[in-house]
Amino acid sequence: MRYLPLHLSVHNTDCLIVGGGEVALRKSELLLRAGACVFVVAPDILPQLAQQVTQVDYRQFIPSDLNGKRLVIAATDDAQINQQVFDAAKEKNVGVNVVDQPHLCDFIFPAIVDRDPIIISISSGGEAPVLARLLRAKLEALIPSAYGALATLAGQWRERVKAQLPFAHRRRFWEHVFSSQVVNQVLSGHLPIADENIGKQLQTAVAQVTVNQTTSAPLTGEVYLVGAGPGDPDLLTFRALRLMQQADVVIYDRLVSAAVLDLVRRDAQKIDAGKQRGEHVLPQPEINQLLVTLALQGKRVCRLKGGDPFIFGRGGEEIEQLAAAGIAFEVVPGITAASGCASYAGIPLTHRDFAQSVRFLTGHMKNGQLELPWSQLCVPQETLVFYMGLISLSVICQQLIAHGMSATRPAAIVQQGTLPTQRVVVSDLQSLPLQMEALQLASPCLLIIGEVVTLHQKLKWYRK
Ligand code: SAH
Repeated sequence: MRYLPLHLSVHNTDCLIVGGGEVALRKSELLLRAGACVFVVAPDILPQLAQQVTQVDYRQFIPSDLNGKRLVIAATDDAQINQQVFDAAKEKNVGVNVVDQPHLCDFIFPAIVDRDPIIISISSGGEAPVLARLLRAKLEALIPSAYGALATLAGQWRERVKAQLPFAHRRRFWEHVFSSQVVNQVLSGHLPIADENIGKQLQTAVAQVTVNQTTSAPLTGEVYLVGAGPGDPDLLTFRALRLMQQADVVIYDRLVSAAVLDLVRRDAQKIDAGKQRGEHVLPQPEINQLLVTLALQGKRVCRLKGGDPFIFGRGGEEIEQLAAAGIAFEVVPGITAASGCASYAGIPLTHRDFAQSVRFLTGHMKNGQLELPWSQLCVPQETLVFYMGLISLSVICQQLIAHGMSATRPAAIVQQGTLPTQRVVVSDLQSLPLQMEALQLASPCLLIIGEVVTLHQKLKWYRK
């Protein structure tokens, strides 16, 4: 390790910048954000820089400029001056940074992710600043912007919690709070940090830990109904990933891809709702009940569903029961199969010339019947997307033709869309049912009907 990572307080301390250009301006802004008093010396100084600092001197640097200074930054493009600043700083024992010259630096400026009061600094020891910045961009995307507000809130509560809870329980309290519903709401932007509910909920959490500390009984659980998207793990939302990583139990569907499941917290209990009791699917009422039971045991339960939980996902039924049982829950939208498959197959669902609307339908048959408003579906310039339409495909095509849709209306099947095994079959209403057997399709499959299907050839992903 070439540099010791430290976060230095420069509040109300005098710092010098030698140089008056853009680089000097950026360093000055950073020092000012940390509360420093900034002095600048250079023959030319940008007016914007001159305005914001404590003192400016329009001349060359002289070693006595360092008197009383804690730090100095040389931001000139003159190698001789930079060296002079470095030598003088060494002699006077003032911390020095010569911009972009690691060998002339006592300290360096890391790339920072600013969620004040949380500051994450990333340094490559001056070797690869661009790489450090790329890493910063990744962290920026991963860490919700409300983290700073959360840390401020924790700061406000720190003393109170200290007074009420013994040391051994404080950690548990904070772990519980930071992964709780109230914090999720703050991070999701649903609850402003000043909301009085937050105070109440924190007080309840303190009381709960106090009550439970002797019995070590579990705290109240909660349920996250999370959309896992159509299969490609890259299509998960940040929130989905965060909750998947925080849950104690994950109950997942047959549709959730292996690659997505890999991202669940490693030590979480995983329950396959598609394969309970041999090959039988866990019936919906049992899933609803399981969610309630696990939450009442104090577990944080992630109900992971393919696509979007509110599109043919029975998400509504699951949360109805949670609401009735008074269990906290949160719903996280996911990319639905229609969007995922359409994008990955190069079939826009709407298009200026071909379709002004799109309808999502279910092909799921009840008692061998598929009851849909067929004549309403036979309109021009509309795209029809059938979920669960593989078994009923012949019925769908026959009914549409019988109700007046052209037998040559283009139709496509997207098999296992967004996954490496994706396959797209383009045909028309009349031919598709006849080709089915030979195609040997594997589920899940999505059926898209409409003129937009003809765009597939032109718009399918270009790969060299
Ligand atoms: N809630 C899910 C849909 C559940 S219904 C969503 O929003 O996507 C299940 C149906 O979704 C499947 O029968 C299939 O028609 C469709 N489906 C889901 N994932 C798919 C995928 N990767 N490729 C093709 N179809 C998919």
